[in-house]
Amino acid sequence: MGRTITAAVLDKCGNNPRPYATHTPLRLAELSLDDPRPGELLIRIDAAGLCHSDLSVVNGDRPRPMPMAIGHEATGIIEALGSPDDAHFAIGDRVVLAFLPACGECVRCQSGEGYMCANGAASNGAGRLLGGGCRLHEHGDDVNHHLGVSAFATHAVVDRRSAVKIDRDIPSEIAALFGCAVLTGVGAVMNSAKVRPGESVVIYGLGGVGLAALLGALASAAVPIVTVDPSAEKRAIAATLGAVAVDPVEAAEVIKQTIPDGPDVVIETVGKAVVLQEGYRLARRGGRIVTVGLPNPAERFDIAAVSLVAEGKTLIGSYMGSSIPARDIPRYISLWRAGRLPVETLLTSVSPLSEINGLLDALAEGRAVRQIVRP
Ligand SMILES: [Zn+2]
Ligand SMILES: [Zn+2]
Repeated sequence: MGRTITAAVLDKCGNNPRPYATHTPLRLAELSLDDPRPGELLIRIDAAGLCHSDLSVVNGDRPRPMPMAIGHEATGIIEALGSPDDAHFAIGDRVVLAFLPACGECVRCQSGEGYMCANGAASNGAGRLLGGGCRLHEHGDDVNHHLGVSAFATHAVVDRRSAVKIDRDIPSEIAALFGCAVLTGVGAVMNSAKVRPGESVVIYGLGGVGLAALLGALASAAVPIVTVDPSAEKRAIAATLGAVAVDPVEAAEVIKQTIPDGPDVVIETVGKAVVLQEGYRLARRGGRIVTVGLPNPAERFDIAAVSLVAEGKTLIGSYMGSSIPARDIPRYISLWRAGRLPVETLLTSVSPLSEINGLLDALAEGRAVRQIVRP
């Protein structure tokens, strides 16, 4: 039977001229959405955040099958269950959607590394749901799912393994942020770097993930913390939170002054190989360098191979903050409730879905941290 929904659809990955507000690479389309199959959920989307990974599909840095209904950071209410006897989820539950469904059955999942689930990565790469196929169609043709979510829409059908149940009282524009920015940024600090109290941390980039990493570093009692970003507005937010905040031009100098031995931990969220190289170079002997940004696949990373051994440095790639959403989202929400993870500092604006192309411009120009869309 299904239903008709409104969703933001991208027809072309890359080569989309700017400004996006006038060229409108995303079009609001009426799509038909299938009923959820067994193990799936129909979600009414309440709020969805615009993430750099969405922009990376529009500008071609992250090639994806087209057409695609994009958006992957969201919260909503369950309106229907594909398995009516679901023991965990019920109609009316509020959920946060995570952008990698872990199958629960592969070796990686069985080893507690669901963020490395090959089945989830394969279905995401193919633009399908974990259970196979598309639930979205336009004039009879499939429309691809973005990371199993496709959140810039009035409704979504997702695999139940993409959803984490949360309490209903959390404002939706806050709850959505836990699905990507917080999961990735805080996870990079707490899960991937395992920052200990009193360790020094340098964070490159103060977008949603970078700012969330700062919140994670503060919650982990890291000190000192140096953040690097070209935007004066974003640096002001970081400074208010208690970090040293510097422009990239003066970063190396200020980091040397603030942390003479070099930082214990570097978190790179910019997604540029040159930034990762700089962070790697500045980290102390024995330091950990965590990269969580997504560079264009063509970029190469150049370090002296001997430095890994001679300087004992550890380079760590962090996908989704090495997070287990069902474990970590409730943990981060507890920290937020206790005032230890002020996630609202990430929130730039709340807008209707119709403004999404203009919001892409603001993100591309570094004028926004997290912009929330309400369908
Ligand atoms: Zn994201
Ligand atoms: Zn798996």
